[in-house]
Formats: sequence, C-alpha cells, structure tokens
Amino acid sequence: MQLAAAMSRLGTESAFEVLARATRLAQEGKDIINLGIGQPDFPTPANIVEAAVRALRDGHHGYTPANGILPLREAVAADMRERRGVDISPERIVVVPGGKVTMAFAMLMFGEPGAEIMYPDPGFPIYRSMIEFTGARAVPIALHEEHGYAFSAEELLAQITPRTRLIIVNSPANPTGGVVPKSELDKLVAGLARFPEVAVMSDEIYARMCYDGIPHASLTTYPEIADRLILLDGWSKTYAMTGWRMGWGVWPEGLAEQATRLAINVNSCVNAAAQWAGIEALTGPQEAVDEMVAAFEKRREVIVRELNALPGFTCPNPGGAFYAFPNITGTGRSSRELQDGLLQDTGVAIISGTSFGIHGEGYVRFSYANAIPAIEEACVRIRNWLG
Ligand code: PLP
Repeated sequence: MQLAAAMSRLGTESAFEVLARATRLAQEGKDIINLGIGQPDFPTPANIVEAAVRALRDGHHGYTPANGILPLREAVAADMRERRGVDISPERIVVVPGGKVTMAFAMLMFGEPGAEIMYPDPGFPIYRSMIEFTGARAVPIALHEEHGYAFSAEELLAQITPRTRLIIVNSPANPTGGVVPKSELDKLVAGLARFPEVAVMSDEIYARMCYDGIPHASLTTYPEIADRLILLDGWSKTYAMTGWRMGWGVWPEGLAEQATRLAINVNSCVNAAAQWAGIEALTGPQEAVDEMVAAFEKRREVIVRELNALPGFTCPNPGGAFYAFPNITGTGRSSRELQDGLLQDTGVAIISGTSFGIHGEGYVRFSYANAIPAIEEACVRIRNWLG
C-alpha cells in the first residue's frame, strides 16, 4: 500500500495518548488523578440531555441540511447577538461535529504548498498538524509567559509575508489559559488593514470561561475584518458536551457555502438529535454554565496557589479556560520528564508543554477540570516526588 505523503505530516494531540496511558494504569490498579484531559468534569445539564431524548422520540432520525437545521442556526445567531453584540445572518453559520471541524475546514480552504498559515505556539496541537497536512508552511506565533501568553500584535504583524493566507488566534487559550487583551486585538485589527488579503480564524471555544470579571473580547466585534474572519465556537466546553460533537463556525459571506460543501463531502450533517439539544443549550436556562464557570474560577485560585508553592514551579494566573501553564525550568527537569515521571510514579496525569509546540519546553499543562481535593492531592504527590 502507498499512502499519500500528507499522512506522514499529520500530527496528533498527545492529551489523548496520555489519557490512554492513564486509563491503562488505572486498569492495572493505580490511583490516577487526571489533570491531563481538556474537558469539563461536569455532566451535560439535564435539560439538554432531555431535549436530545425528546428529539429522538419525535422522530428526528434522518439527515438534516448540511449546515445545520435552521432553528439551531437561528439560536446561534441570537446567541451571537446577545453575548457578542453582533448581527450575523444564520446563512453564515455552519454547524459541524465539534470545534475541530471548523478548524480543519479553514485549513483545507486556505492551505496548500506555497502558502503560509500562522498559528499560536504554545497552542492547540491540531493547528500545526492540519496546516502541515495541507502542505502549507506552519509559521509559529510565539507566545510569552511575561505577556500573560497573549500574542504581541506587533510581533505577529511583522511575520506576515506575501504568502500568508490565514492567521489563527485563540483566546482564552489552550494550553496556557492566556487571554488576549482588547488593546492587543485593536492593534492587530488596525495592522491588518495593511494586509487586506489575509484571513483570520478566531478560536473562541473558551469564550464563556473568562475570569476576574473581565468580559471576553471577541474579534467578531470588529466590522473592519468581518469579511475575512472565521469564528470557531461550539458547545463542547461551555455546556460540558465534548462527546456530543457539536461546534459552529461563522464564515464570511461566500465562504459559508464552501464550508457547507466540505461538510457535504465529509460528514453530511451533525447528528440530528444533538442539534435539537444544541438549541436547548443555547436558549434554555444558563445557570448550569454559570455554576460550572464559578467552580473553575475557584479551582483556578487553588491550583495557581498550590503550583506556585511547589519547588521549581512558577505559575502565572491564567485569565480564562481551565488550564494552568506553569514554568517548571526551576525543577531542573524537562517538560517531558515531568509528564512521564509524574504519571508513572505518582499517578498524576498532566501534559508536557512540548505537546503544544517548540515554545512549550520548560512548561507543563494542568487542566483544572477536576475537584479541589483532587487538585490538592495531586500537588502533594508532586511535592513528594520532587523531593
Ligand atoms: N479549540 C481549542 C483551543 C480546544 O482546546 C479544543 C478542544 O480541546 C477545540 C478547539 C476542539 O473542540 P471540540 O471538542 O469541540 O472539537
């Protein structure tokens, strides 16, 4: 068999490998504390589950329009109006099986040999993987701890070349929890006026998880770039629906049709009952989301305090998402040594910063989607292990 060369360029998301290893160790009887996985530890709210069950009973068993049922896209448009203050026609919304699919579609639409796509590093590993899969050159935008892991618009703009087709930004961010301040977005948008042919994909999947009372700053609120901005958002993190596979993209006029054509070729549509559940999620009571976000904010306080008390660790306060990204250079160990050693010897699952790009060396990612006692116990085990 001869596979396409592109297959050798496809990367992966090591969080899934660490999860598999942790699960194997748990089956062997090891007591595992999982701070590796990037998903809420809460169940999907009951009203959403109920809506899916009702949809199945009501006979929603067939294909739907490839871009999603109209009442769902209308619910997304209403949510965009309410939370981001922007008017989006449901025609520009394409519902896909998870946030990742909007990402993949954007890369497939813009990436090819000779093109360049810029992505945050450290950042979600699928960005680089999918860019390279298309044959485009993946150009890292370095994120620095001392800037709260937000990009510098000046540095970013300086890296644009005539080959740049797409820039990916992510705030709040995985793996750092970093939030890009509005002032930096202002600078980016102002600078982009010089590069009218460059598109932007804004991954705002953690938009609802912003802390310290600072509202989420969205790139969708800039009309100057509305004709070349792709928004990635979805249900996975906000409504604890990672296994449902539900995401949405807002595409510029004209590109929604292209994204829908990709959907027709790849997935036909999203699971019909899940789409009805998605309407309930957006239009039903939001208390469960508020409680979950409040729980994350409390846990953030605990984990940042505990990590900063560990010898060799320093941890900035992340502004959003549910990740802490401490600097571990003071331990004298590499990120990978820490990830592998801690899992094997203490049962604490975390992810090496290098899984998120070259700029991740010297860091590890902790997901605090776990209960406070588990976070505290993990830190005790790490302290003992470090000696
Ligand atoms: N974007 C970022 C930054 C993420 O961290 C994730 C999931 O971890 C996704 C997108 C993908 O989300 P989904 O599970 O909806 O595909």
